[in-house]
Amino acid sequence: MFPIKQKIKYLILIILFGGTILIWSVVFNFADNEFLEVTFFDVGQGDSIFIETPNRKQVLIDGGPDKTILEKLNETIPFYDKTIDLIILTHPDTDHITGLVSVLEYYDVKYILTSGIENETVVYKEWHDLIEEKNIPLILAQSGQKIFLEQDIILEIIWPEQSSIESFSKPTNNTSIVGRLIYGDIEFLLTGDIEKKVENYLISQNLNLESDIFKAPHHGSKTSSNYNFIEIINPQASVISVGRDNRYKHPNDEVLERLRESIIYRTDKNGDIKILTDGILFDILTTYE
Ligand SMILES: [Zn+2]
Repeated sequence: MFPIKQKIKYLILIILFGGTILIWSVVFNFADNEFLEVTFFDVGQGDSIFIETPNRKQVLIDGGPDKTILEKLNETIPFYDKTIDLIILTHPDTDHITGLVSVLEYYDVKYILTSGIENETVVYKEWHDLIEEKNIPLILAQSGQKIFLEQDIILEIIWPEQSSIESFSKPTNNTSIVGRLIYGDIEFLLTGDIEKKVENYLISQNLNLESDIFKAPHHGSKTSSNYNFIEIINPQASVISVGRDNRYKHPNDEVLERLRESIIYRTDKNGDIKILTDGILFDILTTYE
């Protein structure tokens, strides 16, 4: 943790409990792309998910363990576009935050959504200092928030609850921001690195968790993706963001078995995984079959 004074200075947070965040109030542009695109980048052992709406609103969730994300964004965003509307840091572990520091250096970021959980690492300090230096508005994530990416594309935050986050903060994985991205009939459940304790808590809240696309939490670790959780989500496709030959032996065989009723995509085998949807149907494109 940072010393209290520094922490207070850092906490220029816009705290919105249970409310609605209208980050983009009116959409003036005509749609230049009819699809919502959600790309799970192959960034090795870590997570990085890029969302682009039909009106080209851009959201980046986590940045992976190194600078690979900059190459990925370079290939994805036109060279003249140096703005990202929203960055979400699910939790401050190095395999999620590191690439985001480079992104903050190269892009103008309009807003950042965090769980509020800090870390003592050098990379966290860099992240924190850059946000202060660039004066980027921070939003504290709270279950119940609805972020309108467009009028009909909504990111619902379903975890964390700020009132109980401390009791879930060991390991920090369980503080990961969990969001359900909804466009028409198609839903994505984006889970960071949550483990069984949060999965069970979410089930106990009787939330609507059913989703077409499920990002399996924590790189397919056996700490997560419990059967009862998967059963309620009932995904058609599952995505595991994981490094080739990683030392954790992710994804776990049992988890793969539990996910077998969905089509499983893995960044270590499929490369970048891009999902396009018009809100009715979805299609999945991968670098490798
Ligand atoms: Zn992770």
